[in-house]
Amino acid sequence: SGIFSSTSPSFLNRSFSSTAPSESNLIRATLFPGDGIGPEIAESVKQIFKVADCPIEWEEHFVGTEIDPRTQSFLTWESLESVRNNKVGLKGPMATPIGKGHRSLNLTLRKELNLYANVRPCYSLPGYKTKYDDVDLITIRENTEGEYSGLEHQVVRGVVESLKIITRQASLRVAEYAFYYAKAHGRQRVSAIHKANIMQKTDGLFLKCCREVAEKYPEITYEEVVIDNCCMMLVKNPALFDVLVMPNLYGDIISDLCAGLIGGLGLTPSCNIGEGGIALAEAVHGSAPDIAGKNLANPTALLLSSVSMLRHLKLHDKADRIQDAVLKTIAEGKYRTGDLGGKSTTTEFTHAICDHL
Ligand code: NAD
Repeated sequence: SGIFSSTSPSFLNRSFSSTAPSESNLIRATLFPGDGIGPEIAESVKQIFKVADCPIEWEEHFVGTEIDPRTQSFLTWESLESVRNNKVGLKGPMATPIGKGHRSLNLTLRKELNLYANVRPCYSLPGYKTKYDDVDLITIRENTEGEYSGLEHQVVRGVVESLKIITRQASLRVAEYAFYYAKAHGRQRVSAIHKANIMQKTDGLFLKCCREVAEKYPEITYEEVVIDNCCMMLVKNPALFDVLVMPNLYGDIISDLCAGLIGGLGLTPSCNIGEGGIALAEAVHGSAPDIAGKNLANPTALLLSSVSMLRHLKLHDKADRIQDAVLKTIAEGKYRTGDLGGKSTTTEFTHAICDHL
């Protein structure tokens, strides 16, 4: 009921069609517990899914200890196949191993699975006071190119070059998704975030593609905002924005800024949308090595990501139940993790959520 109902927040209500039934009538979903705090918060999700009786059979995959030549990264080919087959999954944070000769785990997943849009909702949590109480934003981040193309080299000694790649195909695809999302969720406005005054060719092409798509959606207000001004406006009055679509690096930065508006990275979920109906949900945050292994992590971001996975599978009753329990636990304030000013461990917070299910 009220603020905790399935219709609020609206972003979590997007649903897709694909499911992968297993022999036991359970739906098989890939789970990457990931690194750092990943296994602790993944354990919290598994426990809560069990208590809520979610019909999910986790197919767990761990990051390998050696480079798999077939993926050129520590991610095994089998783990990618698992997502391709199941079409749905949940991913814990993965640390970027420092070294040469292999690709970042996150980049491997995004490229190999063609996860072209990363949807990052951010909304004020009822009962958790920050400077704002009216944040309700969706950042849609292009997820496959831009500055993340991995094309870097030394030109001459003391001079290096990183290539920012923007293509018409990827820009149109993410813009299409942003407008489609806005329409499907009754949202009014899409803002394209850019720096086309300086990055004239790359961000210029991105904007051109957004404008083309915007013409197909006359019912949705379209605007273009320069990224530096966008940062200032977000901090001053986040209610000015609704759905924001942007190239890869800007999306990475802006979504962390947005997380800061509502209480931090422990709270913000995301979902990677891929070709062929793949949805791989994950928290926005990283592996948080500073608190890993200490039972201090806030599992909310991964839990709300898992809720979006359940909605993708049209398991709305389970999604509502878990979402309500998480939000009620935070609103009550008796059990909160340290990032929200509380004293609870991950385990205590998880038990409190189970008690609210
Ligand atoms: P981070 O997001 O891991 O941590 C930033 C800060 O937020 C830290 O102080 C951390 O303690 C806090 N924090 C994050 N999640 C939290 C949670 N659930 N509960 C409580 N506090 C939380 O960012 P970082 O330290 O820059 O990155 C660490 C590693 O994670 C790096 O290797 C980075 O490449 C990787 N990373 C992975 C992903 C991903 O897998 N999608 C995303 C971002 C960073």
